[in-house]
Amino acid sequence: MPDNTSPIVELENVSKRYRSKVRFLGREARDVVALDGISFAIYPGEIFGLVGQSGSGKTTSGRLIAKLENPDAGVVRLEGQDVSGLRGAALKRYRRKVQMIFQDPYQSLNPYLSVLQAIMEPLIIHDIGTRGDRLAEVERRMQAVGLTPPDDFLNRYPHQLSGGERQRVAIARTMVLKPEFIIADEPTSMLDATIAIQLFNILLDIRRRWKVAFLFVTHNLGAARFLCDRIAVIRKGVIVESGATTDVIQNPRHAYTQALIAAQPGFAYRGSDDGLYGQNEHRLHGQVDDKCGPDAAAADSEQTQER
Ligand code: ADP
Ligand code: MG
Repeated sequence: MPDNTSPIVELENVSKRYRSKVRFLGREARDVVALDGISFAIYPGEIFGLVGQSGSGKTTSGRLIAKLENPDAGVVRLEGQDVSGLRGAALKRYRRKVQMIFQDPYQSLNPYLSVLQAIMEPLIIHDIGTRGDRLAEVERRMQAVGLTPPDDFLNRYPHQLSGGERQRVAIARTMVLKPEFIIADEPTSMLDATIAIQLFNILLDIRRRWKVAFLFVTHNLGAARFLCDRIAVIRKGVIVESGATTDVIQNPRHAYTQALIAAQPGFAYRGSDDGLYGQNEHRLHGQVDDKCGPDAAAADSEQTQER
């Protein structure tokens, strides 16, 4: 972690609970604790991974940073500023700086907007540039995400695109606003491994060219190892371990992390990323079994590990 740089995004003791809508057999509904006092800091230009099983609170963390929701307790900061009070014009500026890419581009893209309209829409909403400027910007971003030649894609609709192409549109759409921070919420979990790695390379390219920092949310340690400088492992709304990606993966201290690694066949302790994707798809898609997986193993090792 950089010593003399301040974080771009910071969560301090953030908690979030949801009111459960279901009453089970007449019993009182209990709140769901999605996040239970989590803290982490992400530095400029960094790709920070939040790794955990389904239901661990990853999406909730992303939604709080994107200000789609507010925390019940704790503070979310962007560039040192508490974001809780942002309203009106300040909130609109915040939305330009912080963008989110969702798991399912079918749901996040409007089916009635063409590729051109979808990528241009944020520029219209934020009243940026002339029509000519906007067209040029759309084409530039399409080139950057590999939707080329742009003319082949501009007039297509989401149902006329592959899953990977839809996610490229979603990424181009976030990039036209020149964000400083992007939350990528399992952006490739619905895609084949070969397509996933193409998208990862696009994210790396965006980081390199435009110095964007990322929160990358995933259940997949292989994806995290490929992409992330540092990771935090989250379980049931609590961060159990965090550190440099290679340290955490090669020397996991918490039983939950150890079990996550063990649950991905052929993954443990390999020093190189060669062949991680493509030939060995089961690694990328390796799922953790709830009953015999990390939660069972972590049951008697509850304490948080910091490094
Ligand atoms: P992840 O993205 O890691 O799968 P989430 O952040 O989506 O996890 O969810 C964390 C917990 O909060 C889960 O138990 C989930 O069921 C619950 N949860 C998330 N969103 C809501 C909601 N809108 N209403 C009720 N419960 C929710
Ligand atoms: Mg999620």
